[in-house]
Amino acid sequence: MAAMIIKGSEISKQIKEELKLEITELNKKYNVIPGLATILIGEDEASKVYVGAKEKACKELGIYSERIDLPVNTTEAELLAHIERLNKDSKIHGILVQLPLPKHINEANVIDAIDPKKDVDAFHPINVGKLMLGKPNFLPCTPHGIQELLIRSGIETDGAEVVVVGRSNIVGKPIANMLLQKNKGANATVTICHTGTKDLAAHTKRADILIVAAGRPKAITADMVKDGVVVIDVGVNRLETGLVGDVDFETVKEKAKAITPVPGGVGPMTIVMLMKNTVQSAKMHAGIG
Ligand code: NAP
Repeated sequence: MAAMIIKGSEISKQIKEELKLEITELNKKYNVIPGLATILIGEDEASKVYVGAKEKACKELGIYSERIDLPVNTTEAELLAHIERLNKDSKIHGILVQLPLPKHINEANVIDAIDPKKDVDAFHPINVGKLMLGKPNFLPCTPHGIQELLIRSGIETDGAEVVVVGRSNIVGKPIANMLLQKNKGANATVTICHTGTKDLAAHTKRADILIVAAGRPKAITADMVKDGVVVIDVGVNRLETGLVGDVDFETVKEKAKAITPVPGGVGPMTIVMLMKNTVQSAKMHAGIG
């Protein structure tokens, strides 16, 4: 059985087209232009690439973008002052501080300082709590991208055995939380695995849908999955040979019903969901919808 390749690169384009229409209408009908501010501290090459891609997506869609590049020796107080200004700026509906931060800056203090109504990454404790309660302001971008990939690829989550490998605050925990909610595109039975899991393969072999966010190349091999599994590979590992995910794609795709590639799977969805959250925030601030 040839696996369906879930192409995030194509699905994300489709969502971008939908967003373009929404943004044009917002502009024409309500004179609203969604605005996103990104703050980048230091010279981390991967972070520069991510921020550049977010800026490009804003331009493409007609979202106002403000990019703030700060030197690596920026103090926490200076960073908090930028956030405070952006919290009050009516042109800005989304504030994104690119992580990781330099070690001398406390990440939790920075996340706490962002207005939860402009927290388009959905990392603020209020937004994490609201997600847990099933009443989110915003859905976190990568998990939201995963859920959209499943929905738009016609994969049924209702009643499915979902196994998530990884329990980070940005991927593992929130996607597990979203998929166990009693609503459309969710209602699954969810298991979360991590490095303390005794027999990882015993869990992954049970999965109808396996979501892998471990940050380890070949963490999942063909002998660890059942026939007909749907595999979402969130991993991004930069090897000398190029970019690979966490799943041994070539062998696992022979057993899977559907699988995401790396690159071109979850990655492009994350950025487009950030754009979607910015548009949603602009609407919320304007009292629309
Ligand atoms: P993270 O914070 O490093 O968390 C990794 C998680 O995987 C941890 O919970 C860890 O367990 C677990 N883990 C690691 N090795 C394992 C193993 N062999 N067996 C079972 N569990 C294992 O990583 P993250 O931020 O969630 O990111 C995960 C991957 O996704 C990375 O490659 C990252 O680059 C990628 N990512 C991609 C996107 C995208 O847009 N495509 C977005 C975010 C992240 P412990 O908790 O026990 O340590």
